[in-house]
Parts: sequence; C-alpha cells; structure tokens
Amino acid sequence: MLFLQSDMWYNECEMFINVTSPRVLKELMAQFGVAPLKKLGQNFLVDGNIADKIAAAAAPAGACVLEIGPGFGALTSRLLARGSEVAAYEIDAGLCRALDAIFTGEPRFHLFHQDFLKADINQELGALFGGREIYVSANLPYYITSPCIMALLTARLNIRRITVMVQREVADRLCAAPGSKDYGVLTVAAGFFSAPQRLFNVSPSCFYPRPEVESAVVQMEIAPQQDMDFEAFMDTVKALFAMRRKTVKSNLRTAGLEPQQTEAVLKAAGIDENARAETLSVRDFIAISRELKKIY
Ligand code: SAM
Repeated sequence: MLFLQSDMWYNECEMFINVTSPRVLKELMAQFGVAPLKKLGQNFLVDGNIADKIAAAAAPAGACVLEIGPGFGALTSRLLARGSEVAAYEIDAGLCRALDAIFTGEPRFHLFHQDFLKADINQELGALFGGREIYVSANLPYYITSPCIMALLTARLNIRRITVMVQREVADRLCAAPGSKDYGVLTVAAGFFSAPQRLFNVSPSCFYPRPEVESAVVQMEIAPQQDMDFEAFMDTVKALFAMRRKTVKSNLRTAGLEPQQTEAVLKAAGIDENARAETLSVRDFIAISRELKKIY
C-alpha cells in the first residue's frame, strides 16, 4: 500500500514511483519509519539524471543485474525499466519493507534482506542467474566500499561489468597509475581483472542527506581471468606493499625469502631490486607471482 499525490508514487502495481524526488523520498521515509543511518552509509540519490546515467552505463537492456544497497530503489527502478532482472541485497529492514511495497508485483525484482558481505552470493546468484553474465550496479555504502569490491572480484560468478558509485578518493585509488600516491593494493587487485575507468564525478548535492565527501562513478569491464590464482597474486601484492617505502627486495626478504632466492625471483621477473611496489605494473606483480610460485 503506497500512494502520494502530485509527485507520483502510487503503487499497487504498474506505477512508476519517482523515488529520486526529495519530496517523495521524505514521504517514503515517514511511511516506512526510515531515518537515514550514517553508520549504514545511507545517502540516497535525489538526482534522477545521475540515476539514469548510472543505470544506462551499468548494463545493456534486459541484463542480469546485481545491486548492492538498493535503498528506496533509485537505481533499481531504472534498471527494471530497462528490462533487467535485478537481484538486490539490502541490510535495512525498513528499506526492505519499502522496496517490497514499491516493487510489488514485479517478477524481475529479487530482494535479499541480507548483509551483502555475509551473503553466499555464489550460491544465491548462481541459483538465480545460472551461468549468465552478471552486471553489478550500485551506489555503494561508503563504509564498506573496498570489501564489497573485493567480494565481487573474488566471487565465483560470471561477472561481466561492475559500475559503482564510490567516494572520490576510492575512485582515485581504483584508477591510479603506477608511481602515483593513490596507487596501492586496491588498485592492483582491480587491475588484475580490468582497467577501471572513472565515468563522472557526482556532487554531494545529488544525495539526501548530503554526504561530506565528493563521489564518482567507476566502471570495471571484467576481462577473462589471467592464468593465475587471484589469491596467490594478492599474497604477493600484499607482501610487496607491506612496507610501502621499502624496496621490493627488502619486502621479499621480510616475507621470508633468502637473499639468493630474492635476487633470482626479481631477475627472472625482470624487476629492478631497488624498485618499490608503487612503481610496478600489474604485469610486474604477475611476473613476480609466477616466479614465487616456482618456490612455494
Ligand atoms: N541505492 C540507493 C540510492 O542510490 O539511493 C541507496 C544507496 S546508499 C549510499 C547505500 C545503501 O546500502 C543503503 O540502502 C544501505 O542501507 C545499504 N547497505 C549498507 N550496508 C549494507 C550491507 N552490508 N549490505 C547490504 N546493504 C547495505
């Protein structure tokens, strides 16, 4: 049961609900007893153009979409309007009640009332989507951005593209070039699967309530996986970044390699032993991982 007057939210099926209207949003909050919680990163999109742009970039019409944190459905409504089948994970019970009412009678909307980071997405989305390509679209809760991205990268699902709104600093880290201050473990992890692209920046005025930070939308086209185990690759990356200001040689020694092994690994991988991790490309990390695999 839902209805409002001029700004359009009716429902009991078939009605478009303009959840990016600040007025509608406030009415929905009152009806479902939702007060935005900072600790859950609840900053809702109130700019319809931005929501349209994200949904259009996120997935082709009719795709299988995974959404993390649908909130009141700003992106969800656009994705469904484009004919997508949407699996959405939302942690907040009040928002889940609202979503059930807003998308009632919509068979392509699948709501999981769960903490995304604790969900068994391999099992749940495997059962829902089978082996079909999955497109991820989200205005991520900023307090768990990196864990969400890592969970997506390590999922055993056919994820084809990830399009997410993140804090601008995280976008800088995801898209950083070797040698820059933002280049780090997250950059290299994402770079293993894709070349992340910043699509556009988003101002705090596009949200209610306004966040204290700027945002940006980042897209990752996921390439077929390298001929290498991601976990082993990440062990190498973390070891080499363990002490950021130290050389890769020093970090490998700290990780337990003998001096001769360290020299041999770096030589075979074609890496200068005085280089630091922040100057290495993803390809360099892969080369070192391959050499380490021969030892361990
Ligand atoms: N997509 C909506 C929008 O753009 O207006 C809401 C985005 S808001 C930034 C983040 C959403 O993630 C909120 O709805 C919040 O309740 C939800 N959320 C926070 N932590 C979560 C978690 N661990 N698992 C699933 N959803 C979560």
